[in-house]
Amino acid sequence: MAQSTETAYQKCINPACAAEFDCRQTIFKCPQCGDLLDIQYNWDKIEVPGKLSDFGRRWATRDNRLDFSGVWRFRELLNFCPDEYRVSIGEGQTILQQNDRIAEYLEIDKGCLYLQYEGLNPSGSFKDNGMTAAFSHAMMVGAKSCACASTGNTSASVALYAHSCGLKCTVFIGSGRIAFGKLSQAMDYGAQTIQIKGDFDDCMKQVQDVCVKLNLYLLNSLNPFRLEGQKTIMYRIIEQFGWQVPDWIVVPGGNLGNSSSFGKAFMELKQLGLINKIPRLAIVNATGADTLTELVNAKNLKWNNGNIDQTIIDKYYKVLTESNFSPHTCASAIEISRPVNLKKCLRAIDVCEGVVLAVTDEEICDAKALIGKYGLGCEPASAATIAGLKHLRDHGVIDADEKIACILTGHVLKDPNVTVNYHKNNEGLFSNPPVECDNNLDEIIKLISDD
Ligand SMILES: *Cc1c(COP(=O)(O)O)cnc(C)c1O
Ligand SMILES: [Zn+2]
Repeated sequence: MAQSTETAYQKCINPACAAEFDCRQTIFKCPQCGDLLDIQYNWDKIEVPGKLSDFGRRWATRDNRLDFSGVWRFRELLNFCPDEYRVSIGEGQTILQQNDRIAEYLEIDKGCLYLQYEGLNPSGSFKDNGMTAAFSHAMMVGAKSCACASTGNTSASVALYAHSCGLKCTVFIGSGRIAFGKLSQAMDYGAQTIQIKGDFDDCMKQVQDVCVKLNLYLLNSLNPFRLEGQKTIMYRIIEQFGWQVPDWIVVPGGNLGNSSSFGKAFMELKQLGLINKIPRLAIVNATGADTLTELVNAKNLKWNNGNIDQTIIDKYYKVLTESNFSPHTCASAIEISRPVNLKKCLRAIDVCEGVVLAVTDEEICDAKALIGKYGLGCEPASAATIAGLKHLRDHGVIDADEKIACILTGHVLKDPNVTVNYHKNNEGLFSNPPVECDNNLDEIIKLISDD
């Protein structure tokens, strides 16, 4: 069972089970106990660079497609498949923007606030970091068709990678729950798009059964290979900080794949002696989809070395089911009430001394407009980071002189409806509505001069 001869293997995160499986198996959940699977490495069989800055040499060999990829140039740290299967469409060309104007608004010192803009990925969200890794695994196991449930960005990313890999692709979406930019991508990239009368959690349940019945390759973040790719968002942040770690990472929490993978990234880097400090992690929910916040802050749910108190989770979900609860937030990408990666996220909170909080839709929309006004813009879920950061500053959890990286998970054009409504309604802190004007030169000149 123990895959001692391989560089990588899959392992159940439940310590009472701890079953191990070969990476060539396509299982997604532990067949013995049903818990989540993790990718583990036999580091002594991998030539990991002696220091992180050694990865910088790959900038000089960018004509190699793997060195060009912002994911695969760190491939020694996610070494679960041979080069020949590794898929890339140029993901991970993202930037860390120092933003002193938003910092000033949040009373953070100049030079301390940074925005990691993952909207620059090929499909416009961070999801591409994970998909490039998961599709590489799909190629390794010879998958022919694939599927995912999605609040939007997963479907866009899956559809894009599927057609570039020649895989047939079906995406499940809760009807009426998807932002237009994302739906348009899934259709344009040629995915079969199935709109289920329900929410994301309903889609997630259906897709798992469909994948087993029809032998489709599953691309939700339940897929542990996806999370391996998402670790590289942290590597790139460290790289852009001159190979130093910041004090804080702030990330929106939906299905909790990102937060889980960030925790794993730092855990491994520390274990390898490549960093000596682990940054703290702040995970931000929307108040209309705040399962993590409730479980961690109100019910005191903890990682506890993997021995998680399942009764707390079961009780909480039972109440959701009995009250027919459906999550609601304008940040559709985090409109999830049964986060698949909850347990791995608890580990990340443990590793990174994490904090969890929830922000209102109003706060999200104002923060989004602030990011648009002074930064590169983002979609609503991404703005939960700045909204959350405001709380953390107001409550003194984060000091003015700490270095902070907020993950802007998706592109500003993903959800134009939320943006246009916010500005047109003119009720937000930063609303900037269009002005109507007659087709008349004097009137136009007067409008501009009066402004
Ligand atoms: C998927 C997504 C999220 C949620 O990330 P998780 O890893 O599921 O917590 C947040 N923002 C955007 C833009 C997303 O697409
Ligand atoms: Zn197990």
